[in-house]
Amino acid sequence: MDKTQETILEIDLNAVTHNLKYLKSKLQSKTKFLAVVKAFAYGSDAEQIALHLQDLDVDYFAVAYTSEGVVLRDAGITKPILVLHPQPINFKTIIDRCLEPSLYSARVLKTFIECTKKEKQTNYPIHIKFNTGLNRLGFWENDIDFIHTQLKETNSVKVASVFSHLAASEDLQEKEFTNTQISCFTNTSKKLVALLGYHPMLHLCNTSGILNYPEAHLDMVRCGIGLYGFGNSKEESKNLKPIAALKSVISQIHLIEKGETVGYNRAFKSEKKLKTATVPIGHADGIGRHFGNENGFVFVNNAKCNIIGNVCMDMIMIDVTNVDCNEGDEIIIFNNQHTAEHLAEAIDTISYELITSISRRIKRKFTK
Ligand SMILES: *Cc1c(COP(=O)(O)O)cnc(C)c1O
Repeated sequence: MDKTQETILEIDLNAVTHNLKYLKSKLQSKTKFLAVVKAFAYGSDAEQIALHLQDLDVDYFAVAYTSEGVVLRDAGITKPILVLHPQPINFKTIIDRCLEPSLYSARVLKTFIECTKKEKQTNYPIHIKFNTGLNRLGFWENDIDFIHTQLKETNSVKVASVFSHLAASEDLQEKEFTNTQISCFTNTSKKLVALLGYHPMLHLCNTSGILNYPEAHLDMVRCGIGLYGFGNSKEESKNLKPIAALKSVISQIHLIEKGETVGYNRAFKSEKKLKTATVPIGHADGIGRHFGNENGFVFVNNAKCNIIGNVCMDMIMIDVTNVDCNEGDEIIIFNNQHTAEHLAEAIDTISYELITSISRRIKRKFTK
């Protein structure tokens, strides 16, 4: 691969294929696979990733917001798209673009049914979401009679699936809590299914659920982070390949005298002679200010170099005192060797936050 001459996010579609194969090898053959491509496919590129996955063996896609589903339809995605967190104002768009809403409360269920009636729909696919302990979105078990009453009055909608979301599937210390969520979902969904008289799909597991709770795969799994190469544990991350590499270049090198300062607010004070490099990526690109002041680091010719001083909007300064490097040399912020998971840990966050923060102004480049 050629060395980059500007800041770039390189995305390896072969790694996506590898991750999908690995994750599917954990499933029984009857279990369906939903690919979560919300938030620009975790900061990469939702259209390209979804088009790539659509040609492979995935059954469903999911996004968070309606607008993300519209983008996928415009890009030519024809497989079913679940919208995890829709708002009633977008229900007509949902129907117009054949998107499938997650309905999580009395208010949204009633409003969606009214909308499907107005639009003269029959058996429009909906997904009923239960809260089983995350306490974020979802009906409670004692809403079952309400849901059933609403549904039996109309044939404008039909339940395509019933689902819930695990709160701590990556944390094996919380196994007891997760098992309670699994049995709560099993009981609740059973009751609703008995009242419906037909069998919608049941699903519960995210990536860590797939890896840690094989007994809870049910009819479908909803996989996000695993497709992008992270398994939420050292062991599982070994089996997956990070799909994205964030690279940049050295714009300029400075020799700094003892006692000088570097960057805004003079946050870095030099205690010795120093060589610094300025790199064109900043907090507007997703490298937040928390990475400044030697919390974060990048790699120059495989040497780890700290980010010194405050992160600027469009630049960082790094300490390259002991590194053989020149202006124009390539910088690695993360790749499949120096992982985003590792860099995220340096500021007490998770891979999800770092990769989804990489701004749209950074060019994406795809390799196959
Ligand atoms: C984001 C999300 C997922 C995917 O979770 P990963 O941990 O990235 O696999 C699955 N289900 C719901 C409801 C989500 O919001």
